[in-house]
Amino acid sequence: MARVVVMGAGLGGVACAYEMKKKLGKGHEVAMVGSSAYFEFTPSNPWIMVGWRTPPQTRVELAKPLASKDIRWIPQMVDAIDAPGSTLRAGERTEISGIAWDGGSGVARVEVSLDSGATWREAKLGRDMGRYSWRQWRHDFKPKSAGVTTVLARATARDGSTQSDKLVHNPAGYHHNVVQRADYHVA
Ligand SMILES: Cc1cc2nc3c(=O)[nH]c(=O)nc-3n(C[C@H](O)[C@H](O)[C@H](O)COP(=O)(O)OP(=O)(O)OC[C@H]3O[C@@H](n4cnc5c(N)ncnc54)[C@H](O)[C@@H]3O)c2cc1C
Repeated sequence: MARVVVMGAGLGGVACAYEMKKKLGKGHEVAMVGSSAYFEFTPSNPWIMVGWRTPPQTRVELAKPLASKDIRWIPQMVDAIDAPGSTLRAGERTEISGIAWDGGSGVARVEVSLDSGATWREAKLGRDMGRYSWRQWRHDFKPKSAGVTTVLARATARDGSTQSDKLVHNPAGYHHNVVQRADYHVA
């Protein structure tokens, strides 16, 4: 039996838990962890701010809808993630994967760097499901030695736009388009 835990009961998390449960069926457990009892519709927040809506009008209590889909509901804050499985072994082939998306011209390539951006290698792209769709990617590598290995991933769209090296701050919090980074512990 698989046990899938989805953290963060927001727009992405709730849809993910529903879809995972639909795909996995009765034989597998899907659990959803959220920091409050509610699903809150983020785009409505400005309406609350200007008094067009009250918080209860923009949120839904999650216990019942999740129970009706047989999804286990854990309404509490995640304060740590202890994933022993995230420890890699030096010299062992390891596959990393992810999902890339762009502004609408389609993902042309995804590159991965293991040396802080000095050199980049092209990852394998998954099926092209159209220019408005996400594109899966994966890449094999062998961590050389014990310690921390940092992997950077950068997507480039068909119109040439790519992810920036430095985060561009802006008041609304949009445009979080910086090159993604993950640190792996290697034993
Ligand atoms: C004002 C505004 C208007 C927007 N309008 C649009 C729009 O018109 N169209 C559109 O497509 N997008 C819009 N967006 C963007 C959209 O809301 C976000 O892209 C979307 O909510 C991101 O989904 P998410 O699941 O990644 O994060 P969220 O929806 O933010 O969900 C993250 C969830 O994780 C929970 N969480 C965080 N930390 C923890 C923890 N430690 N433990 C447990 N739970 C935790 C949070 O409480 C939250 O419920 C808008 C955003 C804003 C702010």
